Amino acid sequence: MDNTDFRKYAHKIVDWMADYLANIEDYPVKSQVAPKEIIEQLPASPPQNGEEMERILQDFQRIILPGMTHWQSPSFFAYFTANSSFPSILAEMLTATLAAQCMVWETSPAAAELEQLVMNWLREMLALPEDFTGVIQDTASSATLCAIISARERNSAFSINREGFSHNKYRVYCSEQTHSSIDKAVRIAGIGQNNLIKIATDEKLALRPDELKQAITADIASGKKPLCVVATLGTTGTTAVDPLPEIAAICREFNIWLHIDAAFAGTALILPEFRWMSSGLSQADSFVFNPHKWMFTNFDCSAYFVKDEDLLIRTFTILPEYLKTQTHGQVNDYRDWGIALGRRFRALKVWFVIREFGVEGMQKKVRQHIALVQNLTAEIEKHADFELMAPTVFNALFFRFHPASCDPADLNKLNENLLQELNASGSIYLTHTKIAGEYIIRMVIGQTSVTDEHVQRAWRLIQKTAAELTAH
Ligand SMILES: *Cc1c(COP(=O)(O)O)cnc(C)c1O
Repeated sequence: MDNTDFRKYAHKIVDWMADYLANIEDYPVKSQVAPKEIIEQLPASPPQNGEEMERILQDFQRIILPGMTHWQSPSFFAYFTANSSFPSILAEMLTATLAAQCMVWETSPAAAELEQLVMNWLREMLALPEDFTGVIQDTASSATLCAIISARERNSAFSINREGFSHNKYRVYCSEQTHSSIDKAVRIAGIGQNNLIKIATDEKLALRPDELKQAITADIASGKKPLCVVATLGTTGTTAVDPLPEIAAICREFNIWLHIDAAFAGTALILPEFRWMSSGLSQADSFVFNPHKWMFTNFDCSAYFVKDEDLLIRTFTILPEYLKTQTHGQVNDYRDWGIALGRRFRALKVWFVIREFGVEGMQKKVRQHIALVQNLTAEIEKHADFELMAPTVFNALFFRFHPASCDPADLNKLNENLLQELNASGSIYLTHTKIAGEYIIRMVIGQTSVTDEHVQRAWRLIQKTAAELTAH
């Protein structure tokens, strides 16, 4: 392909992109293909000779697209959103074109300096403590792993980095509602899954500080070393908020690293009315939230903030000869701030998004999502055959179908069938969780283009499908 053809196809693809996003509601939200349906349509071996772009694009539309779930559909209510936006997509196009590998300042000074700037902007937007320093990571999973490794190195005076473990007495604590990325991080960091202590939760599914303190004191009494507590703002199951002030006080008392996982709900901190949940946050050692979930920024982009920047860098710095630069020490060489050496230019899309929305524009959109969820929560509350299963805090709600006629022992199956039917319709996409053995439908309303009409249409479909399931 030459530059002339590149220009031709780039224009064609941009037209396709705008059409796709304009007509996204014509596609089934959840891909309806069966396992192997895509791979069986494709040749097992690569082509020996180059193919025409025209044909590649045809196959993209004919074979690949039916196998895509349309995450940007306004009727996507599953998992947590990974919403995007026009400015974010435009920035991703530029990033792809520059195709820069931004591992150190010298490999693209603007990428490093823009990252520093947008992380300061985000810190200000979320009203995070001024002594926090930010770095962009790929995902919250990586950021949490960085936090646990940093805690380990602080506690061991960097001896585990050098010599490996001389003991394995470390303990990490989180609530039983915490995300599985914490389990993964303790495994990778060498702490071991059995040393991740899951603390019981209260009626709102938030971590119980009294139970935490008890677990820590019992561990100390038996010779264990409490290393880190992970508190969550907005758990994945039901968006519960762990009580930071109490947890922070315990961490301070026992000199334990406090990491805060706000992967999804962190975006809500751009609204002053949600800052109650960050009380105590100034005591934390690290904090992560994902602009790639609810902040209109294409996956991937995770914002990781630490109180002790030098400690983070010392934990991850390795400086071989071939990476030495003249400017080392005067600038941010972000390869030293996390796990991967190579880095995408992620700051550009954050900069585009914040500038194009403006802080107020973003606040307005996020408030709209929260209002949509509150309206629907009120409707579900009024409905005799549906019940809410957890408090509505952010832009997610948790409910199940519970007709009086249904034997309680059959409720899980009934709701599983309901979810299956809804997703098979292609009109909407929802996912579930289980709390204390009860099957719960989760509905997350955070799409960039979602309106009240989409929510009302979904709610009508849920009621109709549920009624049909029990009609015979
Ligand atoms: C989504 C989520 C994660 C994982 O995020 P990744 O960026 O996919 O690693 C971690 N914690 C919570 C609370 C989440 O909601």
